[in-house]
Amino acid sequence: MKAGVIGVDVGGTKMTAALANRDGKIVKLLRIQTKREEGAEGGFKAICEMVKSLHEEAKTQGLSVEKVGVGFGGPVDFERGIVYLSHHVPGWENFPLRSELEHRFGVPVTVDNDANAGTLGEWMFGAGKGVNDLLYVNIGTGIGGGIISDGKLVRGWRNLAGEIGHMTVKPDGPVCTCGRKGCLEAIASGSAIGREGTERLGRLVRSEEVFQLAEQGDPIAKQILAEAVDALAFAIGAAANLFNPKKVILGGGVAEAPEHLLIEPLRERLVRYTLPQVYEGLEVVRAQLGYDAGIMGAIALALIAE
Ligand SMILES: [Zn+2]
Repeated sequence: MKAGVIGVDVGGTKMTAALANRDGKIVKLLRIQTKREEGAEGGFKAICEMVKSLHEEAKTQGLSVEKVGVGFGGPVDFERGIVYLSHHVPGWENFPLRSELEHRFGVPVTVDNDANAGTLGEWMFGAGKGVNDLLYVNIGTGIGGGIISDGKLVRGWRNLAGEIGHMTVKPDGPVCTCGRKGCLEAIASGSAIGREGTERLGRLVRSEEVFQLAEQGDPIAKQILAEAVDALAFAIGAAANLFNPKKVILGGGVAEAPEHLLIEPLRERLVRYTLPQVYEGLEVVRAQLGYDAGIMGAIALALIAE
C-alpha cells in the first residue's frame, strides 16, 4: 500500500479536511460548516467525522494513512498538542486535540496554529518553494505570520514566534484584539482598514471598498492605505533586519488586492525601514496557494512530522 496523510484545517466554523499522497497531492477533499453555539464539542465531532471518512476513502484508494496534520485557528502548545484557545469559538481552552485524535485513530497527529501551517504550506508548495529564509505574513481579518530560517520553521519556546501582527508599530494607536495598543493588526488588517474607512468616510465600508475607492482616486481611502502600507513596511522591515529573509510572502484576503495598491507601494516603503544590505535582493511576493492555503498547510504539517 502507498503512504498517505490527512490534513485538517480548523477555522472558526469552517472545517476542511483532505486525504493526500506523499507528494501533497489531494485525492479527496471534505468541507464542513459548524455552528459557533456548538462550541469545541461540535467542532471536535466534525473533525472526527471527516478524519474517519477519509480513512475509509484511503482504504478504497489503496493508501495507508501514516500521519495526520491539524492547522488550528488559534494558539497551540505544539510540544503537547494542546490548543490554548480558539479565536472564534468558545470551549477550546486547553483542549488536548492531539491525544484525543491519536487515541481515536491510532496514528501520529501533529497540531499547530494556522499561521505556522500556512507558512509551511507556502514553503513546501507555494511561493516559498526552495527558499531557506522567508517571512510569511497573512493579512486577513487579523494578521498572522511565520518564519522559516535556515530551512526550518522558527517556533520559539512557547510556539509563538512569528506573531508579526502584534508588533507595536504605533505606541498610542488603536486598541488591538490582544488588548494592547497600536499593533500592526490594529492598523493594517482587513478589519482595521474597514474600521478606519467607516470612521473617516462616515458610512459603513469594508476593506474591499476602501481598496476600490483608492483605485478611483479617493484621497481619504488612499490615505488609509498609505498608513496601512507604512505600518506593514515598518514591521516587515524590522523583522527582516532580524533574520535576513530572501522572500517576504503576503497571503490572506487583503493580499489579494491589486499589486499596485499594496505589494508595489510596500516594496518601495520597505527601503525606509530595512538595512540596505538586507533590502538588496529581498523579494516581496504574493502567496500562491490562495484559498487552499489552510488545507495545504495542514498537509505540510503532517508531511514534515518526524
Ligand atoms: Zn495585538
